[in-house]
Amino acid sequence: MANRFVFDFDEPTAGGRDLLGGKGIGLAEMTHMGVPVPAGFTITTDACRAYMDEGDLPDGLEREVDEHVARLEERTGKRFGSSDDPLLVSVRSGAAVSMPGMMDTILNLGLNDAAAEGLAARTDNARFAYDSYRRLIQMFGEVVDGIDAHRFESALSSLKGGRQDTDLTPEELRGLVETFKDIYRQETGSHFPADARDQLLRAVRAVFSSWDNPRAQVYRRAHGIPDVLGTAVNVVQMVFGNKGDRSGTGVAFTRDPSTGSSGLYGEFLADAQGEDVVAGIRTPQPIEAMRDSLPNAFGQLVQTMRRLEEHYRDMQDVEFTVEDERLYLLQTRSAKRTAAAALKAAVSMVEEGLITREEAVTRIDPAQLDQLLHPMIDPTATVEPAAKGLNASPGAASGGIVFDADTAVERARSGPVVLVRWETTPDDIHGMIAAEGILTVHGGMTSHAAVVARGMGKPCVAGCEELSLGDGTATIGGQELREGDVITIDGGTGRVFVGRVPLVPPRINDDFETVLVWADDQRRLKVRANADNPEDAARSREFGAQGIGLCRTEHMFFGDERLPVVQEMILADSERGRRSALDRLLPFQQSDFEGIFEAMAGLPVTIRLLDPPLHEFLPAEDEATDEKMRSRIRALRESNPMLGTRGCRVGLMFPEIYEMQIRAIARAARAVHERGGEPPLVEVMHPLVGFREELARLRELTESVWAEEAPELDHLVGTMIEVPRAALRADEISEVADFFSFGTNDLTQMTLAFSRDDAEGKFLTRYLEDGVLERNPFEVLDVEGVGDLMRIAVERGRGAKPNLKLGICGEHGGEPRSIAFCHDLGLDYVSCSPFRVPLARLAAAQAALKEAGSGSYVAAGG
Ligand code: ADP
Ligand code: MG
Ligand code: MG
Repeated sequence: MANRFVFDFDEPTAGGRDLLGGKGIGLAEMTHMGVPVPAGFTITTDACRAYMDEGDLPDGLEREVDEHVARLEERTGKRFGSSDDPLLVSVRSGAAVSMPGMMDTILNLGLNDAAAEGLAARTDNARFAYDSYRRLIQMFGEVVDGIDAHRFESALSSLKGGRQDTDLTPEELRGLVETFKDIYRQETGSHFPADARDQLLRAVRAVFSSWDNPRAQVYRRAHGIPDVLGTAVNVVQMVFGNKGDRSGTGVAFTRDPSTGSSGLYGEFLADAQGEDVVAGIRTPQPIEAMRDSLPNAFGQLVQTMRRLEEHYRDMQDVEFTVEDERLYLLQTRSAKRTAAAALKAAVSMVEEGLITREEAVTRIDPAQLDQLLHPMIDPTATVEPAAKGLNASPGAASGGIVFDADTAVERARSGPVVLVRWETTPDDIHGMIAAEGILTVHGGMTSHAAVVARGMGKPCVAGCEELSLGDGTATIGGQELREGDVITIDGGTGRVFVGRVPLVPPRINDDFETVLVWADDQRRLKVRANADNPEDAARSREFGAQGIGLCRTEHMFFGDERLPVVQEMILADSERGRRSALDRLLPFQQSDFEGIFEAMAGLPVTIRLLDPPLHEFLPAEDEATDEKMRSRIRALRESNPMLGTRGCRVGLMFPEIYEMQIRAIARAARAVHERGGEPPLVEVMHPLVGFREELARLRELTESVWAEEAPELDHLVGTMIEVPRAALRADEISEVADFFSFGTNDLTQMTLAFSRDDAEGKFLTRYLEDGVLERNPFEVLDVEGVGDLMRIAVERGRGAKPNLKLGICGEHGGEPRSIAFCHDLGLDYVSCSPFRVPLARLAAAQAALKEAGSGSYVAAGG
């Protein structure tokens, strides 16, 4: 047969999760293990992709479905569409990656008036039969015909009139079915379809279509899930939890999903079906309650869950149903858990002998560690919140408030800001990126702000109704605030404070440390940090950084004492004038470097010489104090500064600037050495090189200054690779370089011809929404384009100089997928912000384990 689209749960297939979806592969594996699972089959994601391409079910699919329904009938002894002993099924979506609550499921398919009556007679339980039927009409109406759930729910709640759904009599439920059928007719203009096969095929189409519903699209975008994957559909024989007190439904975790502690954790609801537990129809009981009410099923559940955890070698969460005291598993998947729980569970599973250390390392999602790596509000400080909202994304942030995204970007240049909005929209994305934290008045845990903030690992308090927004003002707890007034938000608790609140850096707890040490045993890539001052250097060392991969020196030019001297230097007419200002700057720079070198004793420190264009150190023309300054500002003005006099071009135009910096570096290294400290291995890095000759000249300058200042100390001279030409000419550039460090922020801008400031929030945001691009290339390395240039640079550079040291210092150095690519490329190290160092250690280990064939972290399926 050319193409098969349908597989029974007990049929072996090679397609795995991508073909069967997470739910389908779980049902097939459980069936194979002998876990009690109702019979059923999976329609593959191939069929969904064909459906999306062709706009209808692909040829042959209907026949295959008929054949598999016939097999189901054979095995269950029931007939689909019969009124005497009807076979009922559920139709359930299930993509390869988990998208909780995003797509649809319909239960009890196969019922119609006659079948409901037959079911009632055969089970001697009319209540159960009509309860199932009314559920079918509602779910089918919502999912297939898009009827507003509210229509059905208000009819149900007016019938209940304050009673529980289980208090409804069979007659009332029979009446409810009639009401629901009326609603269906009013809303669709046709009768509820009585034919079982018709119901089934329409449900399958609807589930395929639900892949493209707006909320699923938004979810995919927020989580970087490709649109082309499609969903599988599972058709499962119904088992009934709504048959009375000896039946029920529940969800359970093999360990506590918020702490990771061992022991069954979950909820159970007697006499209920499907999603009643999650939907909060009645308050569920803790799972232990089953021990008394349904001891056999409970015992079997405990045992089954242990087996599942052993089989998957990972914490699981399951959905199950008990029908007349018989247990059935309906779903299993790797449990969604907090980062803290993931770490604790991984460590205890190693202690319990369930998994190896290597496996433990692959069980943690590096991106999730962000949750644990944000500054927190000092727990010892006594502080009073001014308001409280939802704890939408963990971490604390302080900053001046801004009310719109553009202002956020602008003000963020001069200090931290917190973006305060009624609610955010995709148009705000550039402001959200620029802000330290996000606060919204409206919107819940799944609002745009909350979802996006969690995706970015940025603190967010959402739905803070106590906050009111006026025209350029915000009122919290009776205090009126304006743009720039400082607030602090705590996204882990939802608290909002006026003013600054003492924050403490995150701490790495024992479980975290344990896993990181295991990770270090596996990885080949070294991990360094980007740090510009002694505090960040010290912090990055605590987090396990093995050096500094990027120390930017331009920050050292700002500051009240320094900026006037810097400006004097820029305004000077002659080299002599510049040198006299630079002589005064040198001691400042030297002492900055000494602090950093002391913090990084014995480790490599890469220092990048001045990179930005000089006009960044001058005020705007209309703020300039005298005519001389104004004319200098005019002279330095460039229409495209990103491509102007910056990087090594500054160093070649004004060699005395770089000379001063090199001198300061060498003297600092020497001073530390003379004080008896272990000097670091200094790596002097020249930015924005595109031509061998640029670096050749700067290398000569570096060597001659070094020879004067610290001849006895080792050092290296190298360059950023951030201009495409440099990547292409890496062979000749490597002749004069000891190391390359890929500056992938600029390399991405220059390769794609995207200016980051002009792209994010504008056309790039649109590209991502419209699917022109799948990911933001500034977040996840564009492996095909930018990555290819890197590969060329590695090959040509190492080809000419085999011991060339290679690293990356762009923001991609802290992003798991990009880190895996750097591992594959054979770089020596990645460098990222201090808080991302632990994440990078883990991601680097996973890349190494993957290469060795041990798999890597896979997002929980379901
Ligand atoms: P979701 O992905 O939203 O969890 P599911 O397809 O898992 O959707 O189904 C929703 C609910 O219906 C779950 O509680 C599940 O256990 C229940 N359910 C699905 N199929 C059956 C079935 N054949 N018999 C009984 N309950 C079912
Ligand atoms: Mg489910
Ligand atoms: Mg750069």
